[in-house]
This record gives sequence, structure tokens and C-alpha cells, in this order.
Amino acid sequence: MDAKIFTDENGKLDVLSGLTIGVIGYGNQGRAQALNMRDSGLKIIIGNKKDEFKKIAENDGFDVFPIDETAKQSDILFLLIPDGIMKEVYENNIEGNLKEKGALVFASGYNIAFNIIKPSKNYDILLIAPRMIGKGVRERFLTEEGFYSFIHAENDASGKATDILLALSKSIGTLTKGAIDISFKQEAVLDLFNEQAFGPAFGRVLLTSIYTLIDSGYPKEAVLIEMFMSEEMSYTYKKMAQVGLVKQVDFHSQTSQYGSMSRGIKFRNLPLKNTMKEILENIESGNFAEEWKKKSSKAKFKFIKFFATKTRINRLEQEVRKKLKMKAIDSYDYQEPTITDPAILMEIKKELEKFESYFQDY
Ligand code: NDP
Repeated sequence: MDAKIFTDENGKLDVLSGLTIGVIGYGNQGRAQALNMRDSGLKIIIGNKKDEFKKIAENDGFDVFPIDETAKQSDILFLLIPDGIMKEVYENNIEGNLKEKGALVFASGYNIAFNIIKPSKNYDILLIAPRMIGKGVRERFLTEEGFYSFIHAENDASGKATDILLALSKSIGTLTKGAIDISFKQEAVLDLFNEQAFGPAFGRVLLTSIYTLIDSGYPKEAVLIEMFMSEEMSYTYKKMAQVGLVKQVDFHSQTSQYGSMSRGIKFRNLPLKNTMKEILENIESGNFAEEWKKKSSKAKFKFIKFFATKTRINRLEQEVRKKLKMKAIDSYDYQEPTITDPAILMEIKKELEKFESYFQDY
């Protein structure tokens, strides 16, 4: 299945002239996108509670209003706050305050894809989801390098939703590189799949490599530097993106190229595909989103994080980082959580036992 790709010539900023764009949230994405849009000549106001983010926005020269007031003044409203609290903010402060035929812009497909927020059909529903952290969104706008995004117009109440989407995408700086049109659901699934399948599978491979070496007598300091602390891997990753997965092998020695490609064949049958498919189906069906909504999942999450800090790799890293005079990381001091609600404890007790033993060999 091919997707449409949009670039700078597809975006016409005049469709936004005279419109007020409200940005709710002034964190990672909020600050970067608001500054980029203002530099592109658009009228931007910020909606935020009274706290440190408000001060940052004011210091950057923006007018900052309460969230409901910002929604009332805006023709287009960006929701750039954490996904977990967006439903509450939308229902309490935005729906009904944003003008009819106004546009709502999301930077993540999650809340729409899994029906957590069900916005009024009177609004354009737009997606501009950068594949880049906020800092990069700003830096790459200034250098005119651009960054990729997934974009989509889901609901067209204004009759101009696609033009507005493309103009906003251009003003943020993503069309310089390229914006790919996929649905809210596809964006959300890709994002979650990367986090839930590739991430943990890669982590397992990395840890197995580390323990194979340490348990065979290689010094832990050297092993951790070799396997990831040198940052060499991140250069390889960058080269994969820049020149291609296969072509990047040219940046390595002939010995390295021969060794890795000839031995790669031994890992051909790693039993990954079925588990990955299972994870994908669990995300697509909405089961993951349902699970994550539950109070018991939030409690389980705290314990999983706690067990992760008790792992052998975490202890090893702490020792090595101290020796190398590197900065320690906060998670070493993560405190054991407590659960006060006995019903929740009963519900997750068995699973917690499984997770505790799973992390014992990590
Ligand atoms: P942040 O965590 O940086 O958002 C912080 C902002 O949200 C602050 O202005 C904060 O203000 C506000 N906020 C936090 N809690 C509340 C609340 N209860 N009520 C109202 N405002 C609140 O978010 P991100 O920029 O990381 O994410 C924003 C969106 O962008 C999400 O949809 C995310 O999925 C998406 N995204 C994020 C990327 C990233 O790099 N982080 C990459 C691509 C997409 P205050 O504390 O004053 O309330």
C-alpha cells in the first residue's frame, strides 16, 4: 500500500491569513510548533495553566490565556499536551468553546484512533504528527532541513480541511522534508508497534549480547562501552537513515562487513515474527488502549518500572558509570510503590509475580 507524500509546493499559507491559531500546551512540541508557526507569519496565541510553562511562553513573547479562553479566540486549535490528559482537557475546556467549523489539530493519532476523544463533527479534525522530538522540530525549522511527519484530514467541516492541513504543515516546517498522509489509526498503530515490538525485541537482543560476553569473562566496562555506551551505534543508525540499510555497511571495515553479513544468516530463524504479529493485533484491536485506560494498569506500570530498576543490568551500569565518572541516572533510586486499594492489588497480583520473575534474568 503506497501513501501520498506532500512537500513544500503543496502548502499555500494564504488559506490561513486572518486566522488565529491557538496552541494548547507549551512543552516539547507546543513551544517548537508555536515558534515555527509565528516565524512563518501566522497569528499564534497560547493556552496554558498558570505555571512555569506560561512564563516560558510569555518570555518568548506570546500572549497566554486560560485554555477555554484560548479555544474561544481560536479558529484553529493545536492540542499539544500529554495524550493521557487530553480527553479531560478537551471535554472540560475545549468542546463548545472552539468555534463551529474550527479545526482541531493533534500531534498523535492515539486519542482519536481508539475513540478516547470523540470530537464534534462540526470541527475539522487534523493530524500533524512529527517524527521528531520538539527540540528537533525547532532546530530543523531554523536550519531549513525539515523533518518528516504523518499527516491527515479526518473530518472536513470547513470544506477546506486538506488545504488547512497542508498550510499548517508547511508553516511548521515539515513539508520541507516531507509529510506522509496516513490515517490517525495507522499513525497510532505504527507508533505503538515501534514501542511495543521493535523496542523490547531490540532490548532483549542487546542484553543477551551483553550477558553472553560478561558471562564469558569479558570486563563489564569494556562490554558496555562496546555494546552501546560509546554511542557508535547511534552513528550507524543515522547512517541507515541517510544512505540506506544496506549501503551503510560501507562505513564499516571489510572485516566487519564480511563478519556481520556472513553470520547474519544464523539469526534468520529468530522466533520474532509471531510475537510481533500478536503485539500488532493487540494494538489494532484497541485492546492495548483499553488495558492502558484502567486504574490497575497505572498501578502495574509503577511496579514494572520498579522491577526494571532492580535488574542486574541496572546494577552493572551503575558501577560502570561511576567508574567512568559518567552521570548516574535517576531511576537507580526508584522507590518501591505501594497500592492502597486491595481490589486493584488482587487484580494484578499474579501478573506482578510474573513480571518480577521476568526481570530477574534481565
Ligand atoms: P509535554 O509533556 O511536553 O506537554 C507539556 C505541556 O502540557 C505543558 O504546557 C503543560 O502545562 C501541559 N499540561 C500538562 N498537564 C496538563 C493538564 N493536566 N492540563 C492542561 N495542560 C497540561 O507534551 P509533548 O509536547 O511531549 O506532547 C504533546 C503532543 O505531541 C502529544 O500528543 C504527543 O504524543 C505528541 N508528540 C510528542 C513528541 C515529543 O517529542 N515529545 C513527538 C511527536 C508527537 P502545565 O504543566 O502548565 O499544565
